[in-house]
Amino acid sequence: MDPSTRLIHHDYQPPQGFLAPQPGVFKASTVIFPNVAAMRSREWKDKSGYTYGLHGTPTTFILEERLCALEGGLQCVLVPSGLAAIGTASLALLKTGDEVLVPDNAYGPNKAMSASTLAQFGIRTGLYDALDPADLAARITPATRLVWLEAPGSVTMEFPDLCELVRICRARGVTTALDNTWGAGLAFAPFDLVGDGTLGVDVSIHALTKYPSGGGDVLMGSVITRDPVLHMKIKLLHMHLGLGVGANDAEAVLRALPSIGLRYRTHDQAARTLAQWLQQQAPVVQVLHPALPESPGHAHWHALCGAADGGPGIAAGLFSVVLDPRYSQAQVDAFCDGLRLFKLGYSWGGPMSLVVPYDLGSMRSRPAPHLRPGTVVRFSIGLEAVEDLQADLHQSLQQAFGASATGGHR
Ligand SMILES: *Cc1c(COP(=O)(O)O)cnc(C)c1O
Repeated sequence: MDPSTRLIHHDYQPPQGFLAPQPGVFKASTVIFPNVAAMRSREWKDKSGYTYGLHGTPTTFILEERLCALEGGLQCVLVPSGLAAIGTASLALLKTGDEVLVPDNAYGPNKAMSASTLAQFGIRTGLYDALDPADLAARITPATRLVWLEAPGSVTMEFPDLCELVRICRARGVTTALDNTWGAGLAFAPFDLVGDGTLGVDVSIHALTKYPSGGGDVLMGSVITRDPVLHMKIKLLHMHLGLGVGANDAEAVLRALPSIGLRYRTHDQAARTLAQWLQQQAPVVQVLHPALPESPGHAHWHALCGAADGGPGIAAGLFSVVLDPRYSQAQVDAFCDGLRLFKLGYSWGGPMSLVVPYDLGSMRSRPAPHLRPGTVVRFSIGLEAVEDLQADLHQSLQQAFGASATGGHR
């Protein structure tokens, strides 16, 4: 045979049984079958075999199973981003004439996708107040097929009474889907909210882009369930849309997963230290962090994520501040620009601390009386030393708001 043919059809097989701490990386579009009978009979819908790269490889199967272990689920599909996970769940579970309810403080692109793309298919979107279970109950109609949940809300960090919201949906036979990116499977168990196996969400989506990846260098999402019927609807849509993830990205998440608990707690500790320090600074009129007693929904956070033994409980490394409305947008922008270690950028969960100023007026459809007037700035705390981050905040507060800006008036 010609050497070029030999290179493609080389018959060497390495010894079986290689074991190492991390699983191997398997890459394929084409999967080879031993014979036509195997090609005809092999099943793509479960993990009993391999049919085509899109339907799974050893690498993606292993990642799916580990994510199920993290979140307490039984089935998982992987998609190219957290937002794709939201879209996959919504499109799989909704059809023309249905209605979906989304919290007003949900991740913005979920609201935008629901209001535009789902509307194109004749699916109506309603917004509800996540802090008011009675508001959700009143908005559920016979057409409501799916309720999105997020704990806490995006940017403004209100922690809802997740158990009560799920109970309301269950009593009305409405499927629940939680955006579990903040909790990451660590702060609470999405499929077992009260710890006795009686209450959980139906679907948990996770932006693996954040804590599971941990590097700020991977985009991926997961859709996890415990109900095989629900899973098969999601799996079918996933197949029909041709969604899949690259083996190198799956490997990056597999490498980062064993340290997710350590990283999450380190982000948490630093974020709480800085949130408490910022609470003392004169330009800051409100700190939005669910573990702080003054933060909206703190009692619900405490019930779900607080420690039974009176310990600190658990939260992600994310919080926002409201800056005194007497400061102009230009001064707030100068504060963000003046930070040296905090970089301006979206996303969170990576090693680098990030900051984003938000225009809340353009993001909320309903009044939020629990929020003090002012400009909202969100911080995602990375893995830098907390005293370096605090010094950075200190210098930029002074630079932007004047020498009297730091130190406590409250
Ligand atoms: C980042 C994020 C997403 C989307 O994840 P991508 O991978 O960036 O698409 C969804 N929900 C929440 C709460 C997020 O923070």
